[in-house]
Amino acid sequence: MRYSEKGLIFNVNKMIQPRKQFAQHWLKSDKALNAIVQAANCQETDQVLEIGPGTGILTRRLLPLVKSLLAVEIDRDLCKLLVERMREKENFLLLQGDFLTLDLPSQLTGFANFQRQNKVVANIPYNITGPIIEKLLGTISHPNPKPFDSIVLLVQKEVAERLYAKPGSRTFGALSVRVQYLADCELICTVPAAAFVPPPKVDSAVVRLIPKKIEIPANDPKRLENLVKLGFASKRKMLRNNLQSVIERDSLTQLLEQLEINSQVRAEDLGVAQWVSLVNIIGNQLETSN
Ligand code: SAH
Repeated sequence: MRYSEKGLIFNVNKMIQPRKQFAQHWLKSDKALNAIVQAANCQETDQVLEIGPGTGILTRRLLPLVKSLLAVEIDRDLCKLLVERMREKENFLLLQGDFLTLDLPSQLTGFANFQRQNKVVANIPYNITGPIIEKLLGTISHPNPKPFDSIVLLVQKEVAERLYAKPGSRTFGALSVRVQYLADCELICTVPAAAFVPPPKVDSAVVRLIPKKIEIPANDPKRLENLVKLGFASKRKMLRNNLQSVIERDSLTQLLEQLEINSQVRAEDLGVAQWVSLVNIIGNQLETSN
């Protein structure tokens, strides 16, 4: 490091000033930290990925429990701080960079023990929650070919509610379908804004996502992706109205009846399996009528 010991103290203080730009809110609640660690159910064979370690408060708790931990942190100053604080930790590897644009496997060649992360545990930056989840799980048409065993995340409460929402509920949306197609989602606990410094404007929640084998795969995953997006485009409208640019209302009514689904349903009333069945028969119908 460039600076003298005195300078270092000055710099360390400056470094841990949270930056808005990177959505930095330091978690300070023991209760929340314990809940995250417990939900991750760490084993000594686990290789963990943490996104946004910040000052390392969660990292420090995870390290003694696991084989290795790879953390990706975008903030260079925090990386310097972490290097100082974690000097002695042999099972810790820190990558400075933007998680969303990093190509992990190519960065990790040469680091034994850090070759294949099987779990994710993180208090992530809330401004990029959607893209982070998409990078971890993949999408309906391109699921992550090497799914994680489990993903434990601290996220904004409103987002958490959409992740584990049940069909028919107010919070069940396109995100719920996209994520629940790929993973089982459960709420671990809610975390009040006061658990952070500085407190964010919203409450938070810990969720656990367990990527699953896709039970009934869509015949045409891209079509499922598109129709889910279209189906939820106008939430108050009935599904047959939202989809009318793709399939005539009367035809859709018939298909819904075939599946024993009320023809007046809205997008949020259909669970993932129903979405898949519906899009599969819409696909058949469109292909035969072409
Ligand atoms: N886990 C820490 C910090 C959470 S705040 C704690 O619980 O206290 C979110 C963290 O994500 C910050 O450290 C921020 O710098 C980092 N971050 C923000 N955007 C990022 C990105 N694109 N890639 C990697 N890290 C990012």
